[in-house]
Amino acid sequence: MKRKLFVLLIGAILLLAGCNNGNADEDSEKNENSDETQTNEENQEEEIEDVVEEPEVEEELVEEEPESVEVEYQINSETWSVEPLADASEDVVLLTIDDAPADNALEMAKTLKGLDAKAIFFVNGHFLETDEEKAVLKEIYDMGFPIGNHTYTHKNLKEISEEEQREEIVGLNDLVEEIIGERPKFFRAPHGANTDYSTDLAKDEGMVVMNWTYGYDYFTPYQDADKLATAMITGEGPEVDVPYSLLKPGANLLMHDRDWTAAALEEIVTGLRDKGYEMVDPAAIQKVNES
Ligand SMILES: [Zn+2]
Repeated sequence: MKRKLFVLLIGAILLLAGCNNGNADEDSEKNENSDETQTNEENQEEEIEDVVEEPEVEEELVEEEPESVEVEYQINSETWSVEPLADASEDVVLLTIDDAPADNALEMAKTLKGLDAKAIFFVNGHFLETDEEKAVLKEIYDMGFPIGNHTYTHKNLKEISEEEQREEIVGLNDLVEEIIGERPKFFRAPHGANTDYSTDLAKDEGMVVMNWTYGYDYFTPYQDADKLATAMITGEGPEVDVPYSLLKPGANLLMHDRDWTAAALEEIVTGLRDKGYEMVDPAAIQKVNES
């Protein structure tokens, strides 16, 4: 609701600025970013002498704008691929980094940021116990990457009690919220081993559950940057019995916080783009209770 209100406010302000500007040049009217709105407001003030203060609303607009990404995709709960809801491009892939933040996550986030590529970082609580580790998580989150829940201690959920599953999942959400001020909106079980209980619990906690469609960095033959980059870009892993390509629209790509993956990451992103795929913004993926 809040977002819709801001969209309306932006519309109203632009409309006002546009109407009152009279002879202002067309370029500034077309531009919808807030800087330009400010320019319009300023022009307006020069013309109307007694207006002194900027309207307060404008500062709030600048803060809220990055959050207002339109929901255009959903996760298919059988194939785990990313599907467009309406007219959105289907030529997208989702990047995910699991077992973070260990030794490489921050570097990986910086690489992705430099390439303007979004990704979800699925984190474990046992990597978030020191102040330094917490600061790394906050930095990754502040760079614009959503934080997903990968359980507190990375146990196989099929091998522990329901009470322990709850501690693994809810305990980590509490910890993440304490660090970044927001609870995770995505959940991925260690080893992709979901139980009925954990799936329901994750949904109750407001998280979208997902496994992945392919990934190679955890197989020994691909623990090498060049070989991994080739496998991720082609979708083929002939050395682990995947002699065909798993790269297709909506592929949900599993990667980990590992040295060789960090080293291959830039090549993976640029290689996928060369093949016509863009990295989907997780903010555009439909969340639980969002339509
Ligand atoms: Zn994992």
